[in-house]
Amino acid sequence: MEKITLNNGVNIPSVGVGVFRVEDAQVAYETVKLALSVGYRHIDTAMIYGNEEAVGKAMKDSGIAREEIFLTTKLWNDDQRSGKVAEAIEASLKRLGTDYVDLYLVHWPVKETYKNVWKKMEEVYKSGKAKAIGVSNYQPHHLDDLLQIAEVIPAVDQIECYPYLSQEAVIAYCKGKGIYPEAWGPLGAGKTDILVNPIITGIATTHGKSAAQVILRWNLQRGVIVIPKSIHEARLVENLSVTDFTLTAKQMEEISKLDKNLRLGSHPDNFNF
Ligand code: NAD
Repeated sequence: MEKITLNNGVNIPSVGVGVFRVEDAQVAYETVKLALSVGYRHIDTAMIYGNEEAVGKAMKDSGIAREEIFLTTKLWNDDQRSGKVAEAIEASLKRLGTDYVDLYLVHWPVKETYKNVWKKMEEVYKSGKAKAIGVSNYQPHHLDDLLQIAEVIPAVDQIECYPYLSQEAVIAYCKGKGIYPEAWGPLGAGKTDILVNPIITGIATTHGKSAAQVILRWNLQRGVIVIPKSIHEARLVENLSVTDFTLTAKQMEEISKLDKNLRLGSHPDNFNF
C-alpha cells in the first residue's frame, strides 16, 4: 500500500474507501469490513453520512489494529456555524468508538465562519483527538484567508476532482502551500459518462486495466489522493489495484485535456446546506 507523508509527518495511504451515501448501518458495516479485508487501510467518512457508528464497529470487528487504519471524518456545517467544534469531534469519536481520528476536515467553507473555525480545529489538533487537520471544498481564496491566521497549515484539501473537473488551479495552489490535494467523487460519482469515455477506455485497453483504474491512476500520478466509493467486493479490489501500472506523459495529458469544468456537486462559493 503506497503511503504519502503529509506536511506534519503523518502518513496516509494514497487510496482510501469513501462511504458517502451508504446510510444503511448494516451495509456500511459490511462495506468497511470488506474493504479492510481486501487491503484498504484508509476510510473516509463524515458526521453527515450518518454511518460513523457502523464504520467504527467494522474497524473494531476487523481485528486490525487501530493504528494501522487511517480514519478521516469531517466537521459538519451546522457544527461549524454553532461554533461547537470541540463537541462535534467528541461526538464523532464516541460514535466511531475511538479516541482519535487520523484526519479531521472542515467539510465545507461556510461563508460566515470558515476563517474562525480554523482556530477551533487547531485546538482539536493540539488535543491529540486528530493526528492531522485539514479542509474540504476550499478554493484558493478560502485558503488565502485561512493561512493568514493559521498556526497549523491544513494537511489536506479534499475537493471534487475527476477528469471532467481536473482542478488544476486548486491543486497547483495547494501544492505550493504544502497542502495535499485529495479527490472526492474521483470516478464521477456515478453521474457522468466518464467511465465509458473513449479516451479513457482506449487508454484502459492498452494497459489491460479498467476505466476506473485509469482514472484513479491519473490522479495518483499527479499527486492527488483518491477515495473512491464502492460497496461491491470486485470493485473495491479493482479500485485498490492501481499501483502496478504507469500512464505515459501523453496519456496523462490526454486525460487532463478532458477537463470541461463540469462540477457534479455544489460549488464551494454557492451551496445551501
Ligand atoms: P465516486 O466518484 O467514488 O463514485 C462512486 C460510484 O462509482 C459508485 O457508487 C459506483 O456506482 C461507481 N463505481 C465505484 N467503483 C467502480 C468501478 N470500479 N467501476 C465502475 N463503477 C464504479 O463518488 P463519491 O462516492 O461521491 O465520492 C467518493 C467519496 O468521496 C465519498 O464516498 C466520500 O467519502 C467522499 N466525498 C466527499 C465529499 C466532500 O464534500 N468532502 C463529497 C462527496 C463525496
